[in-house]
Amino acid sequence: MGSESVKVVVRCRPLNEREKALCSKMVMFMDLHRCQCFIEKPGAADEPPKQFTFDGTYFIDQTTEQMYNEIAYPLVEGVTEGYNGTIFAYGQTGSGKSFTMQGVSEPAAQRGVIPRAFEHIFESIQCAENTKFLVRASYLEIYNEEIRDLLGSDTKQRLELKEHPERGVYVRDLSMHTVHSVGECERIIEQGWKNRAVGYTLMNKDSSRSHSIFSIHLEICSTDAAGQDHLRAGKLNLVDLAGSERQSKTGATGERLREATKINLSLSALGNVISALVDGRSKYIPYRDSKLTRLLQDSLGGNTRTLMIACLSPADNNYEESLSTLRYANRAKSIQNRPRINEDPKDALLREYQEEIKKLRALVSGQLGTADLAFRILLPPQEYEERLAKLQAEYNAEQESKAKLQEDIAALCSSYESKLSNLEKARTSRGSSVLKNGYGKSSVHNKEPCKLLINWFRCLSFACCYVLCDLYAAFLFIHLSIPRLQQLEQEVVGGEQARNKELQQRHWQRKNLADQRKVHLIRALSENSEESENVLLNVYNSIQEEVHAKSQLLVKVQGKLKAAKLEIRDLQAEFEVERNDYLATIRRLEREGQLLHSLLERMVPLVRRDCNYSNLDRLKKEAVWDEDSATWRLPDVMVQKTTLPSAVAPRLATRRASAADAGEPFIVEGDRYKEMLDRSDSENIASSYFKPKRANQLLGREATKGHAIHSPPLVNGAAHLTVSGPTMNPPISSRPFRLESLDVPVSNGKVKRKKSKSQIHNEAI
Ligand code: ADP
Ligand code: MG
Repeated sequence: MGSESVKVVVRCRPLNEREKALCSKMVMFMDLHRCQCFIEKPGAADEPPKQFTFDGTYFIDQTTEQMYNEIAYPLVEGVTEGYNGTIFAYGQTGSGKSFTMQGVSEPAAQRGVIPRAFEHIFESIQCAENTKFLVRASYLEIYNEEIRDLLGSDTKQRLELKEHPERGVYVRDLSMHTVHSVGECERIIEQGWKNRAVGYTLMNKDSSRSHSIFSIHLEICSTDAAGQDHLRAGKLNLVDLAGSERQSKTGATGERLREATKINLSLSALGNVISALVDGRSKYIPYRDSKLTRLLQDSLGGNTRTLMIACLSPADNNYEESLSTLRYANRAKSIQNRPRINEDPKDALLREYQEEIKKLRALVSGQLGTADLAFRILLPPQEYEERLAKLQAEYNAEQESKAKLQEDIAALCSSYESKLSNLEKARTSRGSSVLKNGYGKSSVHNKEPCKLLINWFRCLSFACCYVLCDLYAAFLFIHLSIPRLQQLEQEVVGGEQARNKELQQRHWQRKNLADQRKVHLIRALSENSEESENVLLNVYNSIQEEVHAKSQLLVKVQGKLKAAKLEIRDLQAEFEVERNDYLATIRRLEREGQLLHSLLERMVPLVRRDCNYSNLDRLKKEAVWDEDSATWRLPDVMVQKTTLPSAVAPRLATRRASAADAGEPFIVEGDRYKEMLDRSDSENIASSYFKPKRANQLLGREATKGHAIHSPPLVNGAAHLTVSGPTMNPPISSRPFRLESLDVPVSNGKVKRKKSKSQIHNEAI
């Protein structure tokens, strides 16, 4: 399988009104003949301009038409032959990406790549001979790392990326729309744009913050001279990327900054993929780092012909962004793809359609025996519908009459049978005389034809009945099949202008133009290298001539060396800027992370203990990162209810009983209260405040009065005492003496809650 590099062209727009008003200077120049692009550093007149060579350069006056015909045409043509193709526009916001991809209707030469691709594809389809096409379109956008279907019923729904061993990476539930003409394509894309626009006005965004991918899926079925069908499939992706500007430059904050980070994330992932592919040594290509790179996986280093259009601003104030775009584009040139014709696609819908069409055609033509039927098929639709309804009614009536006929025949048969048996009886009674007359043999022979006749009649009537019904069934089948056949035939397109010589000629010329340009470009590029080689290989007439030629070459090479050194310096400076940018992002994300962590730490203690969300460490361990949806899968919220063991009450009762037996009636309870007091000590400040006096009091009373006082920990500042005795009297509640003396009203709810708690406790004891 041959490989070919990604094609890269650059397009520079004119200065816009704002730049003109600011008296911006042009820093971009182009040599269209050699496809070279030069950019001058503002304020560094002594430095040579940086130079880049591409597969095409389009300056301020060049039109989209010219660019399309020269470089995009062969790629789109390839899609109609069964190759995959991707065209994407890259560049900072306002550099002309949408102008290039979508374009403007006036002047016609500036119509965008997308409408041109529609026209081109349908022109090729119409010119194709013995070939049928199924054309479907889809349109999606990636915004904030979320995929949305711009043509779906719910444009806000997030779609997931999936991977299939044969289909590769695809978007699950992305709607596909069959299209039959350029007009339909235009309507569909307009609908998508509207959906994009509505979403954005609501959210107060503009389109430059999202990536959009419009795809045309082709299934191609060509029939060879032997009548054999060959299936192929091609897909064209038309990608309008979000602005590539560095986030620090946009001055974005908050939500905008978050967006910018995500845009940068997919664009830097795209850059990393390009670098890894170009590097050649990297075994791992980080496609999975962003949705965009996953979707464009096949377009970068895979089975696709790819064209990148790098859009540039010529103004000096955009120098850095333009230079960054040029470097990005320059790297992309070295990506090697391995495009191939997609033959025999496994899940081709067209194959199913073609097979069904063939079957239906064969069945219909087989059934169409009579002129009457042919006439019926040719009826206009409304009349045809009426006829169909009538036929259906007739068919039902016929079914009923068939059953009646069968009954009649059965009755007729039985009456014949009985008549026949009567006849036979009568004959046997006269049998001897007949035998004597020598007629016995012939009488047996007479009975057989009669039976045969009846059977024959019976068969005939059944046959007639079935034939009639079958005929109706056939009518009905044909009438039901034809709409399906018509529908299927309408789904596929191709060959409508196969005899239009003029169109064929124009098509061929455009195809040729792209080939001619390729040859021309190769020649122009080789001129450069030949020049320097000639200087070294030439035979000179004099030494002076040789010195002169070689010193000229030396000056040239020195210039290149100087440019290379400057490039190293600039790259380092740019790298430093980028590093700072990343560090700033990391710091910001760290701060955000810290905030969330602090909030969590405060909030986790408020979660009830029996809920699994109260254990943050365990949750972190149980959470799983889902690559497909790029989200964390968290464990379900669970509350574990613990029921107290029923054995507690009897055991405590036994303990108490045994303590009483031993003549130490309240020592066990006293110990426990002390323990609780100690524990409550560490639990809250309020209880420690009350503790020394209360504890002493309690312990003192316990020893003298022979009953214990239970003081549960103070909750929410409302202390509550419960006195329990050996007789298990209901608990008596009273306020702590300090609050009592202050006459502070105690909240009813709180008292109730505490009361019930201590009641439970007492009951348990
Ligand atoms: P982007 O999509 O990259 O953000 P746009 O395509 O919206 O930028 O272009 C920004 C502006 O520049 C638009 O007003 C557009 O008409 C104008 N523009 C871009 N490229 C050209 C060009 N080649 N010739 C004339 N005007 C252009
Ligand atoms: Mg745009």
